[in-house]
Amino acid sequence: MRVLLIEDEKTLAELIKSGLEDENYSVDVAYDGEEGLYFAENEPFDIIILDIMLPKLNGIELLKRLRMQNNKTPVLLLTAKSDIEDKVLGLNSGADDYLTKPFSFDELLARIKAILRRNYNIADNILKIDNLEINMSTHEVKRNNILIELTAKEYALLEFLAINKNKLLTRTEITEHIYNYDFDNDSNVVDVMITRLRKKIDKGFGKKLITTVRGAGYMIKE
Ligand code: CA
Repeated sequence: MRVLLIEDEKTLAELIKSGLEDENYSVDVAYDGEEGLYFAENEPFDIIILDIMLPKLNGIELLKRLRMQNNKTPVLLLTAKSDIEDKVLGLNSGADDYLTKPFSFDELLARIKAILRRNYNIADNILKIDNLEINMSTHEVKRNNILIELTAKEYALLEFLAINKNKLLTRTEITEHIYNYDFDNDSNVVDVMITRLRKKIDKGFGKKLITTVRGAGYMIKE
């Protein structure tokens, strides 16, 4: 899952970024509203964490512009305790949820997961495809009840395929969701990761779940 964090308090931004990276999210950070809007308009994100008080362009204004452009990326607002009006204004402007500062990282993570589940229509934290089970809370992956060890990037790739099951994903879509902006786009990386993932989740389990669509990309099929 790819996250855009728009937050001008550098220490807080760094804390959130490293916490989310530990949870296998790929994170881009913008430190003011203009930069944040640029990122949001030009890169695909699964969620935007948006501070309200920002230099250059405030969070509410940024959010309104995104929604006016029909950008439907879920937005979690960060507000200061005193900004009750901002919360209401934020929700009315198209935010999906808000969190009041100071907050615990665990609460932030829980809110993010809840928003993503709603957005991708996942009833609980377990994705099931045939006899493959992906636990989105613990990142445990099982096939035929056998626990499979994956690296962080392999897990991210599998989760992205599984959330979009039965849908073709191009190499570009895959890299854009699994890596952040700093990543030098090299489509070969996806092929290498797919090969490794196949060895772990498909080899020896009978039915092959990961399908190659020649010249186009990959898909996980039920
Ligand atoms: Ca701020």
